Amino acid sequence: MGDVLDDLQKFLDSEWDPDLTVGEWWEKLGTEGWAAPAWPSAWFGRDLSRPDAGRVAEAITKHGALGAPGGLGMLLAGPTIATHGTDEQKQRYLRDIVTGQRAWCQLFSEPGAGSDLAGLGCKAIKDGEEWIINGQKVWTSGGQIADLGMLIARTDPDVPKHQGITWFAFDMKQPGVEIRPLREMTGRALFNEVFLSDARVPDSEIIGGLNNGWAVANTTLMFERAGLGSGGHGAASLAQAGTIAGDLDKRAGDFVRGKGDAGDPGRIFGGAAAALMQLAKSNGKAQDPSTRQALMRLHTLMKLGEYNNLRLKAAKAAGKDIPGLPNIAKLSMSEIVRQQRDLGLAIVGPYGTLHAYGSEERKALDEATGNPFLGMITEMALFAQGPPIYGGTDQVQRNIIGERVLGLPKEANNDRTTAYKDLPKNG
Ligand SMILES: Cc1cc2nc3c(=O)[nH]c(=O)nc-3n(C[C@H](O)[C@H](O)[C@H](O)COP(=O)(O)OP(=O)(O)OC[C@H]3O[C@@H](n4cnc5c(N)ncnc54)[C@H](O)[C@@H]3O)c2cc1C
Repeated sequence: MGDVLDDLQKFLDSEWDPDLTVGEWWEKLGTEGWAAPAWPSAWFGRDLSRPDAGRVAEAITKHGALGAPGGLGMLLAGPTIATHGTDEQKQRYLRDIVTGQRAWCQLFSEPGAGSDLAGLGCKAIKDGEEWIINGQKVWTSGGQIADLGMLIARTDPDVPKHQGITWFAFDMKQPGVEIRPLREMTGRALFNEVFLSDARVPDSEIIGGLNNGWAVANTTLMFERAGLGSGGHGAASLAQAGTIAGDLDKRAGDFVRGKGDAGDPGRIFGGAAAALMQLAKSNGKAQDPSTRQALMRLHTLMKLGEYNNLRLKAAKAAGKDIPGLPNIAKLSMSEIVRQQRDLGLAIVGPYGTLHAYGSEERKALDEATGNPFLGMITEMALFAQGPPIYGGTDQVQRNIIGERVLGLPKEANNDRTTAYKDLPKNG
């Protein structure tokens, strides 16, 4: 790892310039393999392990340079296409992901298909060399700034539901795509409803084969669970990838900040244990036995997650696997955010009932209460309801562990033998 960090240092010394645009800097970082160092070296990576890739990201931040593009392209679309795409598809999409040129969203969930994702109803009908898409997606994070979507749609209703789904790389910037934001209790509009009306996608944008979308979607979900479980969200850069957010032409140096942005929930979760410790000290709660115990519990859970990652890495290096570990990692992340929420609110006490929705209001509230961590704590507490739901709820993770890892009997149903079109539907 020392050699790798030396190479990185040389690269940063010669190439980082805060006056570059975000797009120019990401072009250098991505094509040199520093944006996604855990990816294969043949595809813009450096074959590093996840912890070593984390060290690269840390070193970039420590140098005072802008970090790699974040978002669902890096976290989900890239690894999925690297696994299932053809070489031509990898060349076309992976480069734009590591250089932040195009942003992705995940068009999986529908109003009637969340936990029962394979029951999705969004239709894809073949028309020559294209597919015509009609349906509705929901909870689409970042849909408003996405150039491309990971779309799963029903390409064959005459076979059982898991067998008639296809995964498409879908162009979001076309007529027939309507995006409506949904506001959350944090005050942000992270996710959207997406209405697809006679939208089109070429045959050549099918990833992983026609009607093989369930397997491909499971790869996406596996990366989502593993990424979230290891705090994957925390690595994101403050600049947004893609052509719509408008950050690519801005000055890279303007997005560099020493200590994460309290407004980004991903960053909050990543650095929360240390921040909570500091907060407990400054509030005089560090000697309180129940606070100390809760801090220790949190620290222990986080360490267990780290060790589980290392166990998986060692198993993979030996050509083995630890089935269910991504699901366990995601479950333990849910528990960590719940503990962070409860501990943070306990430390700030009654001030925890005050929440500011905008950065100006946040500043005013920090000044009024004299507590610069308050916004971070309340934001984290409100957002903490999300991680146990997205990427598959806690209950769904337990079902997967029970059925696929422990070999417990599946819930009784005829889903695997009855054609999708003959299954009872919601509503
Ligand atoms: C912050 C956030 C961001 C998201 N971003 C995206 C995104 O970008 N793209 C996307 O496609 N989706 C996204 N989602 C949606 C998310 O994947 C779904 O909300 C999730 O899969 C649950 O589906 P649902 O909301 O339809 O709940 P339901 O499936 O209706 O579940 C309701 C409740 O029933 C329980 N339940 C359901 N089935 C079972 C079962 N068989 N056994 C036991 N319990 C069960 C669930 O655990 C849950 O508690 C996001 C969600 C959140 C909260």
